[in-house]
Formats: sequence, structure tokens, C-alpha cells
Amino acid sequence: MGDGKGAIVEPDITLSPEVQEVLADVIAIRREIHAHPELGYQEVHTAALAAERLQAMGLSVQTGVAETGVVGLLEGARPGPVVMLRADMDALPIQELTGLPYASQVPGVMHACGHDGHTAALLGAAQVLAASRDQLAGSVKFVFQPAEESRAGAKRMVDEGVLKAPRVDAAFGLHLWNSMSLGTVGITNGPAMAATDYFEITIRGKGGHAGSPHQAVDPVLAAAHFLVAAQGIISRSRDPLAPAVFSIGCIRGGDAGNVIPDEVLLRGTLRTLKPEIRTLLLKRIEEVLHGTTQAQGATYDYHHRPGYPVLVNDAVMADLAREEAAAVVGKESVLSPEPTMGGEDMAYYLQEVPGCYLWVGSADPTEEAYPHHNARFNMDERALGIAVEILVRLARRYLS
Ligand SMILES: [Zn+2]
Ligand SMILES: [Zn+2]
Repeated sequence: MGDGKGAIVEPDITLSPEVQEVLADVIAIRREIHAHPELGYQEVHTAALAAERLQAMGLSVQTGVAETGVVGLLEGARPGPVVMLRADMDALPIQELTGLPYASQVPGVMHACGHDGHTAALLGAAQVLAASRDQLAGSVKFVFQPAEESRAGAKRMVDEGVLKAPRVDAAFGLHLWNSMSLGTVGITNGPAMAATDYFEITIRGKGGHAGSPHQAVDPVLAAAHFLVAAQGIISRSRDPLAPAVFSIGCIRGGDAGNVIPDEVLLRGTLRTLKPEIRTLLLKRIEEVLHGTTQAQGATYDYHHRPGYPVLVNDAVMADLAREEAAAVVGKESVLSPEPTMGGEDMAYYLQEVPGCYLWVGSADPTEEAYPHHNARFNMDERALGIAVEILVRLARRYLS
């Protein structure tokens, strides 16, 4: 996505003086959080830092939402709707290899997805908006959520009432995005990120001597038949115009070359963008598993765990976001990327209220940018200014 290399080396970024003023602080906060990363539902220090800052700005602050989540409410000078701005705070179980002066001081834990930047940028936006609350007709809810990385912190925030009291009318969030060059912003109308489903399948046969397979039931061969047939679901059962991917990322069975094992373990994921395709493919996967194992005389255990729902950007909100992003990076640098098959728990908020999730290009245009979740991941910190500016503009636009 994005054209990455060969792009604008000095991107044309327009930041307002009030955003420029908080930028050094935003970068300092990001580096502070980067050096002290915390895993999902353990974001105790990050949450305390966010809460302390919000309190100092005069916001009313709620802590301990979904364990470590923090919510700050800024009431504007005049009455009006409520717009929510969201950041995620969690890090990943990765040993950092960047060698940066502010690299992780916690062994085996790293901000390799950029959530440190999201938290810092949202605090910067809060600072700018709090200092100019007389411009706002309505309220801004600043949401710092735990556990985006696969543990659905957003769902718990919703369950614990983050969209109520006061009721949220629209929600915006962004991801700093190394697949896109600094100075670009990506906004996709409609489904933008995939619904995720996870599987754990155990195929059971009957172990025996590899030289006497007729006395055994071979779960390895059954697993192989299932793997190949399951890919046929994607090409034969699915509407070719509806994106879907099924990947098995783990296959485990047996120890020795001369032994047929008792069982084979498979773990995988399905990614889809349409609910009806998701339902159909979930049904087909189990049917194919049943058929292929039965044909080999094997049996199976099938565990399915639903992940995040599909993330859908509201068309009106996406257009509004596009206009505000264009004011920061220029109209030609606001891209409309194809959806990605990655999942994102921002989807839980956008299921309930209209809103938009943006990708803010954060790849340094002068060097090779490492991808998210890589031990050498880092962002071009100039993207933080773009993120703050867009968040501020979105709130003001919605509350004008
Ligand atoms: Zn991530
Ligand atoms: Zn992320």
C-alpha cells in the first residue's frame, strides 16, 4: 500500500502554531512510553501518565475502565454533540533490536506497532483542544484503551459503557502506518479492515509404524488433504469479488520419520470483509474438515474463536476526515487504499457509532522502514505532528 520509496522526501505538512507548540512534548511522551512498554491489560504506568496529563489539563478523568483504560472528558464552551477520539496503549511481546537511545528498557516487551505514538498524539490533541475549549460546541471524549493486540480491549471498553454518559455521537481513531510514506494519509470508505476468526483443530488418527500404515490411521495425510481442500473453499465457495483469506500458520504432529503419530494440531485464521461471506466460509471450513478427515478414517476436534468484527468507516465521516486530512498533507496525499486483511478492535466502537479510522503514513522516506511487529520497527516522528493536527481538526470540525 502507498508508494513508499521514491516518494516525497520533504513532504509538505501544514501544522498550526498551537500544534507545533506541543510537538516537542508529544515526542518526549512517546519516547517515555516507548522506553517503558506494557502488554495488554498491564498498561499501569502508561495509563497513570495519561490520567495525570488529562487531569492537569482540567479534564474530568475516569480510570480503571476495562482494567487499565482511561477516559478524559473535555466539555466545550457551548452545548453540542460528543465526539470520541481513541488511542490504544499496549505493546507487544517482542525483544526490541532498534538500538535507539529510548529503546525499551523492559526485556521482551516492545512498542513495535506504534501505540506509544497513538497515546502521545492523543495527549497532544487533548492539550491543544483543552487550551481552546471556547471554540467547541459539544464535548470531546478522549479514550485511551488497553489491549488492542488480540485481546479486544475496545470491546471491554464498550461493555463498560465508554460510549455512554455522555453518549458518543461519532468516533475517530488513527494508526501510524509504516506501509505508507510520511506525508500521506489513507482513508477507506466502508469496510476497511477484516473480521478475524481463529481456529484450533486437532486431527486424530491412530499411531503406528510408518512401514505398516495399513495398521494405523494417518492424521498427517488427513491434515494434508484438509489443508489443500480448505484452500479450495476460497477459490470455489466464495464470491470472487468478496475478499477472504484462510491461512494455517501452525501445523504440529509427530516426532520421528518412522512413526505415524496419533494426532496433528493445526492453528489458523480466516479473514473476511462481509458478514455473509464470513458465515458461509466458517460453515464450509468445518464441512471440509469433516469430509476430509472422514475420508481418511480420522476424527477431529474443532475449536473456533471469533476475533474482531470487520471495521467499517462511515461514508459521511470518512469524507469529513478526508477533508481535514487534506488540509494537513494536501489533497493529492490523501489516499484511498484498498482494505487490509489485518484486524483492528476499533471496529467495536464503529459498530455502535459512525466514525472513521485513518492510516497516517509514518515511514521515513529516506530509509527502509521496518514493518509493524518487527523488532526493528520505528516511525518517522514527524508523523506525530500530522496525527495531532488531524485529531484536533476532526474534533473541531465535528463540534463546530
Ligand atoms: Zn499491532
Ligand atoms: Zn496497532
